[in-house]
This record gives sequence, structure tokens and C-alpha cells, in this order.
Amino acid sequence: MILRCGPVLGPASQKCLPLLFISKKRGYIGQMALKVNEIFHSIQGESSWAGLPCLFVRLTGCNLRCAYCDTGYAYEQGSLMEIFDIIERVRRTGCHLVEVTGGEPLLQAETPQLLSGLIEAGLTVLLETNGSLDIGPVDPRCARIVDVKCPSSGMSHKNDLGNLQRLGKRDELKFVIGTRKDYEFARAILGTIPEGKCKINFSPIFNAIEARLLARWILEDRLPVRLNLQLHKFIWGPEAKGV
Ligand code: SF4
Repeated sequence: MILRCGPVLGPASQKCLPLLFISKKRGYIGQMALKVNEIFHSIQGESSWAGLPCLFVRLTGCNLRCAYCDTGYAYEQGSLMEIFDIIERVRRTGCHLVEVTGGEPLLQAETPQLLSGLIEAGLTVLLETNGSLDIGPVDPRCARIVDVKCPSSGMSHKNDLGNLQRLGKRDELKFVIGTRKDYEFARAILGTIPEGKCKINFSPIFNAIEARLLARWILEDRLPVRLNLQLHKFIWGPEAKGV
């Protein structure tokens, strides 16, 4: 689903109108565009924010090809939207939690400007990134949810492990786990991170490993991590798109 929108400002937009309007007038944000695959309203399915209503902005393009990828439709498809128009589209939904995701959102150089613009508009902003690119340019007010790719993805050689040093308390790591080898890989990475540095999520690959098995391993090892099920797959079904 590709959504287009114009810069229509309703009464609800008044709070942050001056900043955004000035930005547009100056051509600072207004002339920057991003390729957007879809924008949709759903329940956040992953991370420590799981269960909350959330507006998702899925950007086009990904530099990885994970074996279990369920969003291949975002590799190419999409339409250009000005950052200003994306922000207004998000604001008009009335949802105060927004996640920018992909594909890989940091592939597009303008993404940090979108994230900062959403924050300036008064929204709580999450970024989900595949962990292969430097998160350094991202506004620290954004909660960055960073994947560490495990071996069964076929992409673990692409991890930018320098990101582990860049994480703060509002940020999260996510390990998608399909095998015991993945689990041991994740546990080893965990051993290199000071406890409490950020939130940690272990997420079983849907239909590849039983959640109860992963739960047992976590409990046996006393790991201080969150077992993170992909809630949206239980609600809408594993094949549903744009939810
Ligand atoms: S990083 Fe995400 S979108 Fe890209 S191939 Fe892997 S699972 Fe798919």
C-alpha cells in the first residue's frame, strides 16, 4: 500500500505549526524526500513497546537479504514523499507513537532528518534498524531498536558491532533466534555488553523454533533479557502485510 498525502494542516496541527512551517519555507525539511513503501496503523508487535498502538512508516530498500525475511516487498516498491508531508500524515492519525522501519531505514541519507522532525512534532519516535549501519547520526531522543543478526539469518557477517558502544538506556537490541547456535551467538554478544546498558530482546523466529524452548534456555542461563514474541503475527496471522 503506497500512501500519498499533501501538506494539509488541520486544527490539530497547530501546536508545532511554526517550526514545521518555517522549516518548509526555508526548504530545509520541505525539499527532502524519502522513498516510502507504506504507512499503516497497527499494534506494535515487537520490542519493549509491544502491545501499544503505533503508526508505522516503512521506508523502501534493504542492504541485507535475511533467510527468514518477510518484508521482501519493501526492497524496491515505494513512492517519494517529502519529509514534511510524511510528518503531517503521521500527525493527522492522532497516534503519538511512531516507528520508522524498513527494509533498512538508514539506507536513505535523509532518514535522520525525518526522525528529528517527528520528535520536534511532539511524537514518541522509534527506529528499527537491521544493525548493519552506523546509528550514530540518529537523534539520541529517538529510541533505536537495533538488530544483531544471528547465524541463521545468513547475514551475521554484516553486523556493525560498533553500534553496541553507541547504545543508550532508551535503546534496545534485538536478536532474532531460530536455532541453538543463534542462541549461543546472542548469549556471547550479550557477555560483551555491560548489564543495564540498554534493553535486550530475544525473539524466536515464527514457526522455526518454539517460544517455550527459547524461554527454557533463557531461564536456565538466568539471562536478563526479554522474550519477545512477534505479537502482530498472533493477532493478524503470519502472512498479513501492512499490519
Ligand atoms: S534486514 Fe529486515 S528487511 Fe532486510 S532482509 Fe533482513 S529481515 Fe528483510
